[in-house]
Amino acid sequence: MNKSKDFLRRIVEEDLKTGKYQEIITRFPPEPNGFPHIGHAKSISINFGIARDYNGHCNLRMDDTNPTTEDTQYVEALKDAVHWLGFEWDKKVHFTSDYFHQLYDYAVELIKIGKAYVDSLNEDEIREYRGTVTTIGKRSKYAKRSVEENLDLFERMKKGEFEDGAHVLRAKIDMSASNMKMRDPLLYRIRHAHHFRAGDEWSVYPMYDFAHCLSDYIEGVTHSICTLEFENNRVIYDWVLDTLKLKPPRPYQYEFARLNINYTVMSKRKLLELVEKKIVSGWDDPRMPTIAGYKRRGYTPESILNFCEQIGIAKANSMVDVSQLEFCIRDDLNQKVPRVMCVVNPLKVTITNYEDLEEIDAPYYPHDVPKEGSRKLPFSKEIYIDRDDFAENPPTGYFRLTPEQPVRLKYAYILTCKEMIKDTNGDIIEIQAEYHPDSKSGSDTSGIKVKSAIQWVEANSAKKVELRLYDRLFKDEAPQGKEDINPNSLKIIKGALIEPAVITDKPDVRFQFEREGYFYADPVDYKDAVPVFNKIVALKDSWSKKKKPSKKLANAQTKKIQIDGEATPMDADEQARFDKYKNELKLNNEVANILARDKTLSSFYEEALSTLNSPLNIANIVVNEVARELKQKEISELKFSAKQIARLVKMIDDETISTKIAKGVFEEMSKSGENPTKIVQAKGLVQISDPTKILPVINEIIAKNPDNVQKFKEGNGKLLGFFVGQVLKKTGGKANPKVVNELVKKQLE
Ligand code: ATP
Ligand code: MG
Repeated sequence: MNKSKDFLRRIVEEDLKTGKYQEIITRFPPEPNGFPHIGHAKSISINFGIARDYNGHCNLRMDDTNPTTEDTQYVEALKDAVHWLGFEWDKKVHFTSDYFHQLYDYAVELIKIGKAYVDSLNEDEIREYRGTVTTIGKRSKYAKRSVEENLDLFERMKKGEFEDGAHVLRAKIDMSASNMKMRDPLLYRIRHAHHFRAGDEWSVYPMYDFAHCLSDYIEGVTHSICTLEFENNRVIYDWVLDTLKLKPPRPYQYEFARLNINYTVMSKRKLLELVEKKIVSGWDDPRMPTIAGYKRRGYTPESILNFCEQIGIAKANSMVDVSQLEFCIRDDLNQKVPRVMCVVNPLKVTITNYEDLEEIDAPYYPHDVPKEGSRKLPFSKEIYIDRDDFAENPPTGYFRLTPEQPVRLKYAYILTCKEMIKDTNGDIIEIQAEYHPDSKSGSDTSGIKVKSAIQWVEANSAKKVELRLYDRLFKDEAPQGKEDINPNSLKIIKGALIEPAVITDKPDVRFQFEREGYFYADPVDYKDAVPVFNKIVALKDSWSKKKKPSKKLANAQTKKIQIDGEATPMDADEQARFDKYKNELKLNNEVANILARDKTLSSFYEEALSTLNSPLNIANIVVNEVARELKQKEISELKFSAKQIARLVKMIDDETISTKIAKGVFEEMSKSGENPTKIVQAKGLVQISDPTKILPVINEIIAKNPDNVQKFKEGNGKLLGFFVGQVLKKTGGKANPKVVNELVKKQLE
């Protein structure tokens, strides 16, 4: 267990200490609409890990409220993933659909206490009425329906009397709430669809915000742990449970940062696309970032769990380097798996002075691995070595076999080349060589100096295998989808030869093929006739050579790199960006840090900066607004461009709009893709700086609040903020805050 505890475990411990809960109950609540990926592994390790650490339990709950996308094959994949990672859920698998009747009753209860109503606006109207961040919403006229009418309509919705979209059930909360989620959120919608478990019983299905908190409550969950995108939903979570006045104890929601990994896409939608378009062989293609993919590739559950522990649980989103995951599997296998020989590209060698047959004992583990075991290597006059291990015209520094240079056959004898046999094209097809009888490994008295030992297999006992050499699925650090596929992500080699010890074992075994990498017997295609081995990972990180060496990686290899939001060191590129942002552009530490560490965000920032020289204001919008959008979308899905952001900032700079209004304009831009200047004009959002327009509002507010004026004059300086806030509110956020501030001060003097 983590010695330095993460923030979730600290909360759990506090709650146990104060007696808020007797037992910790968590849940892992996936929607069964795709195979679980490595991000889910993180959630599994958090939820099941916390339950285990505090002797509680964790429920596996299928969040199956969306009948059109869900399927039992995904349920099975999710169960399989949890088990494979070594966890067990409490009793049976739960399904939100098990609670459909209870949820319905809770909805009826809300209607009865006047807290929910049937709305008959259409989808567009509902969106329009909701308002924007800068403008309050408007409540539907249907909200005035009586309890009786609501009960009747809701029951008929359930019975299937209405078409999809004809009505919805909404909570009656607050159409002017600053948190848009609280503007009468939808609780139920009509869906005439067959549900994979509930069949055709239901024509209404509950929405996430209603179903999730209540399912947690029904199951006695104490800590409902979810990812940051749900931060704004927390108030609805609380509202539903509190408004229903449920018997305590009740669960509370906590958010952590979702896992993002470079060179990886991690959205079920995008993964589904790769499967459907047959870009990969299926959900369990060994290149997929799915649990099923890692499992088939040969990753161990321990390596995935170690990875989840290493990256820690943070409250701020960040990007994890995929080489860290690769490091974890390499690190795990290094200690565990036997080393054997595989000749990938065989070249025949006939040892002309050897007529015997013998078996050579060879250790499975090198000296630094505290494991024992060995196997017998058959040795005869016909062997195969790798084509790469012989060079007719060697480059300088070549240590292996050449016409002049002898080499050691690993664990066996030293060999000297006598003759090269070529085909009509001049290609070498065989080497004739002599061995040195007194050079056997371990009892070498030959005195011959060699520069290296090469791998080999004995011709008669060797077995032909298929190697599937996998590499990263994407060539791009921030891949968008299928257009960024690494064309070399799969290479198939048919004629490789392995020593017999590899074959005698059953599948579900892992080996290190010396010098070639770690391999796993493919659980699906492995046949006795042609064994298939998947490359799990290379022996070394070959990608880091292509890029500048990453300090982050080096660090990951020596210690846990990120605990509870503690920052990882920057690599060279990130550091250079950071220095520039901080020193040249004068951004503050925090902003410079966020931008420097996020390549997508920083390129976006620099693009905007190239059209408008306003480093601070652009940075603020990019780090807050744009970054938030990018949590849910890929950059290609954004409706706005860097240029448009520059235009938006331009209006802040020349005081056409306030920063507050800018946020609302941004909201619009991200929805409609409209130009910011157009939005400002169309909505009349131009900032009011003219004192003669602002003063009357100030005077009105002052007149309405004589008590506060009195208190202010008695020295309560904090009330200045109150007056300024009131003025801004009254003008719909359009008044220039600086001007308001000055005028208010003057008027109150
Ligand atoms: P995706 O966006 O990839 O489709 P999702 O969030 O829709 O994923 P769910 O099945 O709803 O997938 O998620 C199940 C649980 O796993 C949720 O609690 C969710 O917060 C968590 N989860 C999903 N993706 C990640 C991730 N990348 N990192 C951490 N937790 C995640
Ligand atoms: Mg989801």
